[in-house]
Amino acid sequence: MDVKNQTGAQTPIANLYGVGKVKAAAYQKMHIETLADLVRLYPRAYEDRGDIRLLSTAREDGKSAVILTVATAPHLTRLRSHKTFLKFRAYDDSGTCEITYFNQDYLRASFFPGDTFRFWGKVEKSGNHYVMTSPLAEPWTEDIPLPSLVPVYRTTEGLSQKQIALHVSAALQVVLPDLEDVLPESVRTEAGLCTLAYALRQIHAPESIDALARAKRRLTFDELFCFAVGMGLSGGLKQNAALSAPACTVTGLDELKAVLPFALTRAQARVVDEILQDMSRPYPMSRMLVGDVGCGKTVCAAAAIVCAVRSGYQAALMVPTEILARQHYADLCPLFEKLGIRTALLVGADTPARKKAVRESLADSDPAKRPDVVIGTQALLSDGVTFASPALVITDEQHRFGVHQRAVLSGKNGYAHLLAMSATPIPRTLALVLYGDLAISRIDEMPPGRQRVNTYLVGEEYRDRLNAFIRKQVALGGQVYIVCPAVEESEEAPDEVEMDAIGFGDLHPERAPLKAAVTYAAELQAALPDLHVAFVHGKMKTVEKEAAMNDFAAGKTQVLVSTTVIEVGVNVPNATLMIVENAERFGLSQLHQLRGRVGRGSRQSYCVLVSDDHGKTATERLHTMTTTYDGYSIAEQDLAQRGPGDFLAPGNGAIRQSGKVEFKMASLCRDSDVMTEAFTAARLLLDADNTLSSYPKLKEEISYFFSDSMGMLN
Ligand code: ADP
Ligand code: MG
Repeated sequence: MDVKNQTGAQTPIANLYGVGKVKAAAYQKMHIETLADLVRLYPRAYEDRGDIRLLSTAREDGKSAVILTVATAPHLTRLRSHKTFLKFRAYDDSGTCEITYFNQDYLRASFFPGDTFRFWGKVEKSGNHYVMTSPLAEPWTEDIPLPSLVPVYRTTEGLSQKQIALHVSAALQVVLPDLEDVLPESVRTEAGLCTLAYALRQIHAPESIDALARAKRRLTFDELFCFAVGMGLSGGLKQNAALSAPACTVTGLDELKAVLPFALTRAQARVVDEILQDMSRPYPMSRMLVGDVGCGKTVCAAAAIVCAVRSGYQAALMVPTEILARQHYADLCPLFEKLGIRTALLVGADTPARKKAVRESLADSDPAKRPDVVIGTQALLSDGVTFASPALVITDEQHRFGVHQRAVLSGKNGYAHLLAMSATPIPRTLALVLYGDLAISRIDEMPPGRQRVNTYLVGEEYRDRLNAFIRKQVALGGQVYIVCPAVEESEEAPDEVEMDAIGFGDLHPERAPLKAAVTYAAELQAALPDLHVAFVHGKMKTVEKEAAMNDFAAGKTQVLVSTTVIEVGVNVPNATLMIVENAERFGLSQLHQLRGRVGRGSRQSYCVLVSDDHGKTATERLHTMTTTYDGYSIAEQDLAQRGPGDFLAPGNGAIRQSGKVEFKMASLCRDSDVMTEAFTAARLLLDADNTLSSYPKLKEEISYFFSDSMGMLN
């Protein structure tokens, strides 16, 4: 191995034996450039080949390991097409299995009657015997045990599972000998964690489930600890009472109430009061507004905006998607117009000229000429947006924004008041550590007259009935959303899909094929020729997306197949049925969000989760959705089942968006205890040494973890 002139871990991946230019490029696509990156490519699952089954008790939903003795010599058959297949029989105490390999003649010499192998593959029943096709075979002897947990890596074109495993193990040999533990020893022992070297070795080649659990705990801890320390170093979200902000003392609340079509609920009134109190003070508000989907957060935002404007200032409302921006604009603009408040829309898809015009008008020193409110997407963040007189920045669907991004937002416009709204009901413990210094307002009451969205979990065998149900809903005058995780068939993991957690009880890597929005829509249209089926996904042009959404909102199309772009905030009261395909792919909170898209009108609404993953974990998780309708309980269960990862980087990757921060392990941990421990430890360490001067190695690690996107360490 050529690793001269390089210190172990920083060795470029191309220097590793067996990795040429082409493979190095493939690795680069996976953001792996050095050996340090490679050893942190944690397996996405493990094949539990140690779970030895009898043929008669093999898993029905995936691959099994069986120990079989070869009974007959392999028989080779040549087909005229030059294809060949090899067949032989093997047995265990429960039955006989016919094993077939295609086009692998050379294997003939590997299987002799009387030899025993551990076969890994799918066992299927065929009459009175079993069959396996192209199983993986490993010679089996009692005295040399085979590894029982075999890692499965995320792969990419040009890199096979096997190659990655080999490269990782070669990289470990270089990296481990002079690996320095990044955690201060006191932190490590206090938290009862294994060493980093042990964790890295066990995560790639676990000796046992126990060892794997310890490794996962350690690596999870590291990420959360680094995150917490990093946030602390960067000044995090601390609000500074020494900073000044415009005191907004004219509330305009009565004016707003007069033009609203409904009365505020008690919870809304309380929250609005909290917000207006904050804004009346001469230092920046830093408040988080949380409340279940549909509880009516938008009107609270409107109250804050009216207050800012009536006090003589401007306000900005930022949302994560363009669809949502346009929807807010459509809802709020007419309302504000009644109050003589001017609203502008600013989205990424606008022409440069239009964007320029809106930006310039926002900066206009003449209050009569500039918009009072601007609603927009991240485009707002780009250079050149300045406000003549900013006082308030609101971010909706806060969980979609990175925490850093939020800090940038509030910093950018001088010292504006900041209101962050999230429909992901963040469990209280997590909110505390994530948003430590933010004041939290909570809407814990729904507007009157809301109905429960009845939720069902079904498998593929219900397809016909489901189509009939779609027809029925449409016949009753309703509309249907269908959410698929992927855009095109070939796409294995589009970035808007939350990847499945690899939990300890979830060692099986196989998955049902993904439903793809585009093909799906075409098939459905064929099955329901009398209905109008349309689709929308994140890769479409904005005008197309908008047209599809508008047609649906206007009732021109009755069925809308989409990816998760519709997840946030979209409001079509006429929609009565939400179908989620491959539901096992989504986090519970995300499913709850999706479910919140229906049941917004007076009609009884339904949510159908379609999943063919009959594994215990998936079924239990999804079953929660059919029995629990409260966003907070769901969030708590999500946290308990999947760990904090989904909250830290849900869906589109909230935090990932704001830099290169990535939790590879944290979303895999099952208990929030690690998080609490890590955050407490971080706080203690920073209290003792707030520049990490005595912990250069840790500092390096944090910088690596954040890709130092914030330059926070300088
Ligand atoms: P979310 O909290 O999910 O953002 P919205 O603000 O979009 O919820 O509100 C959901 C729906 O409830 C909207 O159609 C809104 O007009 C309606 N709504 C909000 N507050 C009330 C209320 N106090 N009474 C009746 N309807 C309300
Ligand atoms: Mg909303």
